[in-house]
Parts: sequence; C-alpha cells; structure tokens
Amino acid sequence: MDTIERLTSLFERFPGIGPRQAGRFVQFLLRSSPSMRRELIEAVQRLGSAVHQCPECMRFHAGEEKICSICVSDERGKEFLMIVASDADLQALERSGTYHGLYFVLGGTISLANEKSANLRIPQLLALISSRKELEEVVLAFPANPEGDATAARLKNEMSDFVNRSSLRITTLGRGLSTGSELEYADPETIKNALESRK
Ligand SMILES: [Zn+2]
Repeated sequence: MDTIERLTSLFERFPGIGPRQAGRFVQFLLRSSPSMRRELIEAVQRLGSAVHQCPECMRFHAGEEKICSICVSDERGKEFLMIVASDADLQALERSGTYHGLYFVLGGTISLANEKSANLRIPQLLALISSRKELEEVVLAFPANPEGDATAARLKNEMSDFVNRSSLRITTLGRGLSTGSELEYADPETIKNALESRK
C-alpha cells in the first residue's frame, strides 16, 4: 500500500466516510501547506496527551483537573443525573442550554444484533448512583430507536434496587424527538421540549 492509499484507508475508518470522501481528504491535504499539515498532526497528537476521561461522568475533556468542569461546577443541580449514550449527545444537550444537572456517559447503547452490553459502563453508573446521596432524579436520554429503548429497559432493571430503597425517580426524555432521530442532531428547541415532557 502506498502513502496515498494508506492515508485514504485511515480516513475511511471515520464514521460516515466512504472511499470517495476519504480520497478527497487526501487530495485536500496534498494541496495544503506544510504548516496546515503540521497543525493537524499536532492536534491529533494532543488528543492522546491532553485529553482525559472524567472519573465521575466518564466524558472526555481537555481540562487541567482530573474531574471535568461540569462535575465540579457549583451551578449544576446535584439532584439530577442525566444518562446519555455518547459524548456527542452530552455536547448537544449542553449546546441547547436547557439542562443544568449532572451527566453520566454510558458509552453506547445495547446492540440488538448481538445483545452486547459488556462495553457499557453500567457498574460505574451503579457505583456513582450509590455514592450520590443528593440524587433525586435519573433522566434517561437515549436515542429514540429500539437500541435506545432496550438500553433504557436494562438500566431501569439495574437501578430498581435504588428506586425501591430511596425516593429516586427514573424518567425518560419525551419523544418530541422524532423516531430514530438522535440527540446529537436535534435542535435546541426540540431538546427543550423533550426535557420538559419527560416522564
Ligand atoms: Zn465529569
């Protein structure tokens, strides 16, 4: 494999990128200045050295501290914990500016094809819930599709002990989000409606 083919095949691994788009990226880089290419290389390298995972919400962040800025903020309501599938969903909710509680990033949804859930951070979630005495409501914010529904059902089951022992409420985002649409691509108004109509 020559240099062009190798870089093309690397870009093809990106989500949503096919061979033609990957080829266009390589052509773009060939026409770019050496300083632009260097900037790209450095930015990718810094992902490995300057970004780390928050031990509380599990999201990736580039903050100086171990715990991320959302988890340490005094302005966030500690009585709410929203569980999202991915960092991208968390970012969409933050952009909407409508939610002011804390988060937990589960790391995906249950795959219905093989029922795999081993990579989901369910043990970490249960540990976090048991350590948060102020917690009153857990909001499940998964994509409106069969995988999202299966994940919500599984978590409700896993958290049933906490619900029985305390006054913890579990709610689900309202389906103002059209079927199959993902939080990541929802506009702020839709997210606000989904949050207000949670049940
Ligand atoms: Zn955090």
